[in-house]
Amino acid sequence: MTDSSTAAPSRWVADLLSDTLTRPTAAMRDAMAHAEVGDDVFGEDPTVAALESRVAALLGHEAALYTPTGSMANQLGMRLHVEAGEEVIADSLAHVLRAELGAAAVLSGISSRSWAADRGRLDPAAPLALMSTGAGPYQVGTALIVVENTHNFGGGTIQPLEAIRTVREASRAAGVAMHLDGARLWNAHVATRIPLADYGREFDTVSVCLSKGLGAPVGSVLVGSVELMARARIWRKRFGGGMRQVGILAAAGLHALDHHVDRLAEDHARASRFAAAVGAVAPAVVDPALVETNIVMLSLPSTTWSPPDLVEAAAARGIRTYAAGPAAVRLVWHLDVDDAGTDAAIEVFTDLLA
Ligand SMILES: *Cc1c(COP(=O)(O)O)cnc(C)c1O
Repeated sequence: MTDSSTAAPSRWVADLLSDTLTRPTAAMRDAMAHAEVGDDVFGEDPTVAALESRVAALLGHEAALYTPTGSMANQLGMRLHVEAGEEVIADSLAHVLRAELGAAAVLSGISSRSWAADRGRLDPAAPLALMSTGAGPYQVGTALIVVENTHNFGGGTIQPLEAIRTVREASRAAGVAMHLDGARLWNAHVATRIPLADYGREFDTVSVCLSKGLGAPVGSVLVGSVELMARARIWRKRFGGGMRQVGILAAAGLHALDHHVDRLAEDHARASRFAAAVGAVAPAVVDPALVETNIVMLSLPSTTWSPPDLVEAAAARGIRTYAAGPAAVRLVWHLDVDDAGTDAAIEVFTDLLA
């Protein structure tokens, strides 16, 4: 839990809107206050350098680059692999296609196509059928496949390593690069115990977020080869993301890696407990077997609820959630939601959905 002396009072009994809501704990603020810093645009911030080499090693890559946001890390990843006029392909619910506001097109002239994926789960056949290479001057060429793990709008879905490896083998043979949007790769790792590097090594570049469930106020990291990260550093400056004494923020990321990775299991357990309780009274709304990490999607077609109405009814009783599209409500567990908040959410939603 966030220390009460540093957190603004929340008007919610449980705020399940997003795991971006986490506020830095007192211990994290302390680490930030004491960070050794320098000018990172000149490559002289030792705390940023420590964070970058630590995340690169964790993910099985040579080098890394600290970025202010996950969107910037993804946009850099795409910019490195795709020339203007070429395309990226991803599933139709992917954050890079839906939630980055067309940045790949606006900033880099990248076009895109997508495949449909149930709950965002990667089926290797889909990207491999969509991928278009060697069509000469007649068709847009696929330069990059993006995989998201865990899958946000899919409901925290973990991508099977075997499926990733199948795509990797075929795309490599076709000369198509792969980028992992690993904003919540930490959650996949904690849930499966598969080492982060086992996932990371299957991709040319990987982005990870420090500001979601890990609880840092700011920051993401892109990893890849030394050569790719040198190019990414140039593009980060061009995108306006060169930062100066940013070790003060990187220190929050290092603190999060030390203290907030293993505890993600608590978020998973609470999400799971909520899904089991609500699934028991409304089995068509949530199948607890589909709740793999910290995200629960409530599927409403079998009910009389619209997503905005259900969100409003829960909010009136102190539980904040998110209307995720035309027929779903999303709940996300994180550092600032405890057992009591989970109990309250169970009480409200079993009541509303029974
Ligand atoms: C949050 C998120 C990002 C990055 O978001 P920012 O708000 O730009 O930090 C990227 N991918 C996924 C799947 C996310 O959930």
